[in-house]
Amino acid sequence: MIHHHPSDESILDYANGSLGRTLALALGAHLDGCAQCCRTLFLAEAVGGALLETEAPAELDVGAFSSVLSRLGAPIAEAAAPPQAGIAMALPANLQHQRIGARRWLAPGIWIRPVLKDPAEGTRVYLLGAAPGKALPRHGHSGVEMTQVLTGEFYDGGTRYGPGDFLEAGSDDEHALMVGANEECVCVIASRGVPLGLPGLLMRLLA
Ligand SMILES: [Zn+2]
Repeated sequence: MIHHHPSDESILDYANGSLGRTLALALGAHLDGCAQCCRTLFLAEAVGGALLETEAPAELDVGAFSSVLSRLGAPIAEAAAPPQAGIAMALPANLQHQRIGARRWLAPGIWIRPVLKDPAEGTRVYLLGAAPGKALPRHGHSGVEMTQVLTGEFYDGGTRYGPGDFLEAGSDDEHALMVGANEECVCVIASRGVPLGLPGLLMRLLA
């Protein structure tokens, strides 16, 4: 049962491609298991498509058609299976073809595995795992941070986030997270900038 979802604004940004590829990975991981947000996405895409139809058609470059035709015969590069060694869980479909970096310890009982970094956008996405009962240090953000719970649970104040839940924190939010007592919690986290304070300093070095 999913209780926490991305904002409509973020789903709209995902639909029109303005969210950026790293943040889209976290949101896409949520969409993979959430029928409610898939309906919102469908609606956003339908509205976007309807708006496009009212636009005046753009001029196409004269050579565009022949350029596409010439590429049709090109051999398709064989995609190598990305190394995801040590991932003991089923990842959401949109992460299964991503190269998952090696596990690095951020603090005792807390690890990260970098997935993708976009220096131009100043965004990064990574997996974070934390042992049962672990407290993540209180931190603020220099930009948006999106967290999708894959397994386990954590608490942000009195609010519980379990598998499938999504937490969207803005630059004004500061929070201290506590992992549930029963099992390791693994999340996919995408952020613009890095968490402020010590967690951010470590993140800059490791992810
Ligand atoms: Zn949802």
